[in-house]
Amino acid sequence: MALPKKRHSKARVKSSRQFWRLNSPALVRCPNCGNLRVSHHICPNCGYYNERKIIEIKEKKKKKKK
Ligand SMILES: [Zn+2]
Repeated sequence: MALPKKRHSKARVKSSRQFWRLNSPALVRCPNCGNLRVSHHICPNCGYYNERKIIEIKEKKKKKKK
């Protein structure tokens, strides 16, 4: 059975394990409102997906100062 000749450093192992986190999620423009949203997800701004309204987005409430 093949064995690694040299031990990999901690940095080398960690960098390969965390590589996927560096890739940002695919962002596309919403066809309804033009807002950026994650691909294959409902638009957080208008609640549309596949040119249909899926969920009702509540309007932003005014922030109350404590
Ligand atoms: Zn939208």
